[in-house]
Amino acid sequence: MATYLYRCTSHGETEVVRPIGSAPPTWSCPVCQSECARVFVPPMLSLAPSRLVAAIDRAERSADAPEVVTSLPTQGARRRTPMAPPNPAYQRLPRP
Ligand SMILES: [Zn+2]
Repeated sequence: MATYLYRCTSHGETEVVRPIGSAPPTWSCPVCQSECARVFVPPMLSLAPSRLVAAIDRAERSADAPEVVTSLPTQGARRRTPMAPPNPAYQRLPRP
């Protein structure tokens, strides 16, 4: 289930709980029964793990102020050697 938000021009916002993907584009206002437009809001990031939120914040900051490194990364950044082709005849060819 997900919580969807609809806004009436006279009575404000209304929360509607429905299965994910089944939100109609409009909803009737519980007070005046007029059509309310759906409001799109970001997901509840407050429930996300703090590491995820920190990674998102870091990615947003990198657009304006990218981090400057002073050395090459060492963890998990080894260069891969090219794989030998499966055909044995190709294995005798010179390698770069
Ligand atoms: Zn209303």
